[in-house]
Amino acid sequence: MTTHLLDCTSDELEAWFAAHGESRYRAAQALRWALARGATSFEQMTDLPAALREQLASEFTLAPPPVLAETVSDDGGTAKVLLGLGGGDAVEAVRMDYDPEALGHAGSERSTVCVSTQVGCAMGCVFCATGQQGFTRNLTAGEIVAQVLHFTRRRRVTNVVFMGMGEPLANYAATVTAIRHLIDPDGLHLSARSITVSTVGLRSGIRRLAAEGLPVGLAISLHAPDDELRRRLIPTAAGTTIDELLAAARDYIARRGRRVTFAYALLEGVNDSEQQARALAARLRGIQSHVNLIPYNPTAGETLRRPSRERVRAFQRELQAAGVNATVRIERGAAIAAACGQLRTAQARRREPVALADGRPR
Ligand code: SAH
Ligand code: SF4
Repeated sequence: MTTHLLDCTSDELEAWFAAHGESRYRAAQALRWALARGATSFEQMTDLPAALREQLASEFTLAPPPVLAETVSDDGGTAKVLLGLGGGDAVEAVRMDYDPEALGHAGSERSTVCVSTQVGCAMGCVFCATGQQGFTRNLTAGEIVAQVLHFTRRRRVTNVVFMGMGEPLANYAATVTAIRHLIDPDGLHLSARSITVSTVGLRSGIRRLAAEGLPVGLAISLHAPDDELRRRLIPTAAGTTIDELLAAARDYIARRGRRVTFAYALLEGVNDSEQQARALAARLRGIQSHVNLIPYNPTAGETLRRPSRERVRAFQRELQAAGVNATVRIERGAAIAAACGQLRTAQARRREPVALADGRPR
């Protein structure tokens, strides 16, 4: 298979051009075409010599992945796309627009794209459709960026969140290369601050990212106030304690000067009691953070349920009363992140639903 141009870092491209007797500046030129201008073939790069374009085309591809399905919400504010990756694999990406004026809110207009980083996921979270599919493969940097490009070819994108299918920090190199293309002034020129990486909590990955010099936002999926429950919800979390994760979060905040978001998927009767909210608040006190409550989006079977609106509010109130900043992800936000995996699931062979033994997820 030919390498996608955007699988290469800008340094690798500079080296390629240098090796072909060309100025390093050509790398920036090619990236501008591929990213800022959304070119889909080398033919379009009209300010590159024809021979060089041919040479590029013989070694690289710029072809976008085929669109297998696309759904747009009635008001046009949310779009979800399923992209084919060859070999029967597919991933999805979602675009969600936020128009403060229409909602009577302050702030500026945003268009956020939620990208996937893997086909499936090896982490096995019991409430996650992607986790229940198991792991197939990592995406390349080009395949991650292609999801954003699908939308930027149609309209401006202001934010990118790594909250789709897969665990970004388990596909570290491709994730970081993709982020660099997104923020590259010759690329999509997004602000690193408008990019958020969500992780299930891979400690070494969080530390590596903190050292990367990219001021991207970090979200850590916590889901439980204690290790025992967290391990039941995230079976692969066994090696990491919440205390260790909070230490990694503190380190990230200190190094990057940004608060961290803790994601908490609310599951009725499992992790949504007021007592659990107080326990969570006690652990987070003093950490410059923000809790993002995500009412469970039913995807993984009938045994898990979304709590009532009242229970969600009560959980949020307990956190706030204890001085912990907490917001509830709005329904459309849920469509973007929590529902990531659903479109693919609809096409993939269904697995056995997650079963609860004595009220506990397995
Ligand atoms: N693997 C990363 C990023 C992808 S998941 C992570 O786990 O953080 C993005 C977010 O959606 C995570 O916070 C995840 O816990 C949440 N999520 C996944 N499935 C969900 C569901 N069915 N209901 C609610 N939240 C869900
Ligand atoms: Fe993977 Fe995130 Fe889903 Fe867990 S929630 S299975 S880490 S994609």
